[in-house]
Amino acid sequence: MRKVNILILFVLFVSAVGGTQSGLAYDYKIEKVSGNVYRFVADRHRSVFLVTEKGILVTDPLNTEAATWLKKALKDQFHLPVKYVIYSHNHSDHVYGGVVFKDSQPIFIASQPAKQDLVITRANTVIPDITFEETMRVTLGDNEVELRYHGPNDGRGSISMLFKPERVLFVVDWIVIGRMPWQRLWSYDIQGMINSTTEVLNLDFDIFIGGHADVGSKTDVVYYLSYLEDLYAAVIDGIHSGKTLAQLKNEIKLSQYSQLKNYDEWLSMNIEGVYERLMEESGMSWRPDID
Ligand SMILES: [Zn+2]
Repeated sequence: MRKVNILILFVLFVSAVGGTQSGLAYDYKIEKVSGNVYRFVADRHRSVFLVTEKGILVTDPLNTEAATWLKKALKDQFHLPVKYVIYSHNHSDHVYGGVVFKDSQPIFIASQPAKQDLVITRANTVIPDITFEETMRVTLGDNEVELRYHGPNDGRGSISMLFKPERVLFVVDWIVIGRMPWQRLWSYDIQGMINSTTEVLNLDFDIFIGGHADVGSKTDVVYYLSYLEDLYAAVIDGIHSGKTLAQLKNEIKLSQYSQLKNYDEWLSMNIEGVYERLMEESGMSWRPDID
């Protein structure tokens, strides 16, 4: 029943495609998700924004071109200033382009570890004005956004954002709906992803929006978590039974997840990524009890 409601809510609101006709690198669009919450789609990347009578709160600006398109679309459709920019984490493909929103003097927010990384690595985007260690609540009009840092999972300082009263949860990279996790799980902390995903399942949300791929429900997040756990367990079992990476890539099928996009192309890459992480970060390659 809940899923049906979500599908009804998730109708295309505006499909103002800039796109290749206008010389832009990608097609961009804005979709109404629920209440005051919208999704911004820029090729493979997604972010979320909130429109209230007090102004607009945007999340990841993505890059200069995407942010420029979004800023114009917000101005044309809503005629309201951007009051907050919230970064999901430190990766440049999500948080570059922040400077585009600077003219309405919004407050830039990120977790402390994300800001630290942006400063230390001299990232070419706006450095957050405000940071938090574990949780923060941002209010705008009658809306609230709860920000939470769940520990390491992907990149540095990646957070969840819970939009209330819409009960929409936004997480970037470490939860993906309708698609396999990215290739060799580059930069991921697999156990951290499992821990963080388990934690957000305790939050009160009905609609999930990821920084990539599809919009989903809580049930979809549960399904994603079970894929990660099954993948992790299968590789750990295989290592304990003395199998090589080549054997694991051959033998692990997890066919109950074959409906996920990129299953055929990326399963063996996912296996390889998990294997590498277990060998290196969990130190299974030098464990005395493993052949
Ligand atoms: Zn990403």
